[in-house]
Amino acid sequence: MDCCGHEGPGGGDARFDIQKVAEGVYAAVAAPAYKVNCNTAIIENDDGVMIVDTHSKQSAARVIVERLRDITRKPVRYVVNTHFHWDHWHGNEVYPATYPDAEIVTNQITREAMLMKGLKRIQDHVRQGPGEIAKLKADLQAASPSQRTKLEADLRLAEAYLAEVKALKPALPTIAFEQTMKLYRRDREIHLLHLGRAHTAGDVFIYLPKEKVVITGDAMIGWTPFMGDGYPDEWAATLDRLAQLDFTHIIMGHGNVTGREWLGTFRSYVHDMVEAVRQEAATGATLDEVKQRVTAKLAPRYEKPFSAYGDYRPWRTGVLANVERTFAMVS
Ligand SMILES: [Zn+2]
Repeated sequence: MDCCGHEGPGGGDARFDIQKVAEGVYAAVAAPAYKVNCNTAIIENDDGVMIVDTHSKQSAARVIVERLRDITRKPVRYVVNTHFHWDHWHGNEVYPATYPDAEIVTNQITREAMLMKGLKRIQDHVRQGPGEIAKLKADLQAASPSQRTKLEADLRLAEAYLAEVKALKPALPTIAFEQTMKLYRRDREIHLLHLGRAHTAGDVFIYLPKEKVVITGDAMIGWTPFMGDGYPDEWAATLDRLAQLDFTHIIMGHGNVTGREWLGTFRSYVHDMVEAVRQEAATGATLDEVKQRVTAKLAPRYEKPFSAYGDYRPWRTGVLANVERTFAMVS
């Protein structure tokens, strides 16, 4: 079924709060959504704009293109992808379609991952969409009146997403670098850095030394990190390399703009979780025992700070998945 009722900006769930972080540097902070949207960083340079990350769908990127017109009339020249996950690059195609000279930039590892895994995940989403929609319809049938509004909204968004992902024309990066790429504009320097493995094998950080701003992708987010493609036992060391840079503001992949104190909390969660799993695994505990013990051990310190978004991505669910991934890697 086509989904013509849900055309138009955002497909209903792409809402952004655009905040100025430094002169010419903005964070478009995405509201929590059924089909998660990442944040976008907007960097206005003398000769054009750099955009970082493009969300889970084309309509969300189109919302940014529209909002951009309120900020500047300059064209987008560079789109950077921080990693290969769907919610950070599915909107890529919108930029070269709108700005014919736009180049899409990432590192070699992430470009490779888009080819090897990202393209397949698009097909997975196309294949899994109808089942997801059928389940939401069944849930709706059985729902109480108080549950209906949310389920109806989710169903509409699932249908809109399926229509978009079916129409998606994957726009892969046109420029790939190895470790570091530096852009010297008249008014600022932009460093694209690979600092080691964390959320994925190829995480890209964007660093503006003069403005003291760093953009992290999902190597840092506002809720419990997803580690399904990650390297939990290398993550803290990568964040330690990040911490050596001189910056005051952090634009994360998801969640509000933050500062160095959240880097400290986030890094110690990752570190403490990995160490706790290692210790429990060394005693010969089963995965179920490790999950239960590590959650109990970490909850007093981490449950509250990682619950700033309430029921959206709850800490208790996230930590169990993190423990499972870590257990598989260290035991
Ligand atoms: Zn993400």
